[in-house]
Amino acid sequence: MQEINNKENNSLTIDVEEYFQVEAFANNIKASTWGDYPSRIEYQMQLLLDLLEEKQVKATFFILGYIAKNHPKLVKLIADKKHEIASHGFNHQHITKQTQKAFSVDITDAKSLLEDLTAAPVNGYRAPCFSITADNEWAHDEIYNAGYLYSSSTYPIAHDLYGVPNAPRTPYFLENGLLEIPVSTAKYRNKIVPAGGGGYFRLLPYFLFNSILKKSKNQLDYINFYTHPWEYDPKQPKIKSNAKSNFRHRVNQHGALAKLTKLCQVYQFDTLANVHLEKTYPTLGKWTDIASGKF
Ligand SMILES: [Zn+2]
Repeated sequence: MQEINNKENNSLTIDVEEYFQVEAFANNIKASTWGDYPSRIEYQMQLLLDLLEEKQVKATFFILGYIAKNHPKLVKLIADKKHEIASHGFNHQHITKQTQKAFSVDITDAKSLLEDLTAAPVNGYRAPCFSITADNEWAHDEIYNAGYLYSSSTYPIAHDLYGVPNAPRTPYFLENGLLEIPVSTAKYRNKIVPAGGGGYFRLLPYFLFNSILKKSKNQLDYINFYTHPWEYDPKQPKIKSNAKSNFRHRVNQHGALAKLTKLCQVYQFDTLANVHLEKTYPTLGKWTDIASGKF
């Protein structure tokens, strides 16, 4: 068994998007009105970049093309600090709401823009809201055809907004050659629970979240933790939405930075590319088979 804080296997990933672009508010805010909302991303990213610098952590940033277009200097700043620049697509639309062609354009445009800004290849992609469903036959081929080497777009849990509960919990290659790196989960008896961050990281007391994450690390031998800049900014404007979405979005934002600081003290993190791209993983076949547990 490897040490819990083994640097080689722990990754901190940050999905770089604005508070008004999240899936929980997608029914309240159309993409065409994004320009009407005050941007908070540069302030939020400074908090995170300062923390990572202080703790000497290198992270993977899945950046939206929309953010790169409107804040090109931010992308260059992240790259200058030697973090990994990866893609969250361009317009943060659920894949189930896109045609195959529109999806291809979205992920290709985001990749080209990020590569133009940083003059370096972008290898990683994460789907908005982990929205590649079990019956989607084309998303992984489009991701591979766009030139990405890996995707971190699956959360193998049951959840009302996302999740592919029967998919593998550890990294694997699809038959087309794309590497998929699932977000961290933990298994208690027969139940698989989320361990990778997001709202649960804010909702649960630190010791409880950490005990789940530790269990996950012991079971999977790696950590793929994810978070968002808007989770650390209690002063962001409030979006008019339903009580459930507002609670999920805003719960415990006040204490989130202190929690992330603690996490960076306990675990040594590195980028997904550094942790996984040189490793050997099994090739499991076609996505629709893998997603339905036939692997
Ligand atoms: Zn997102």
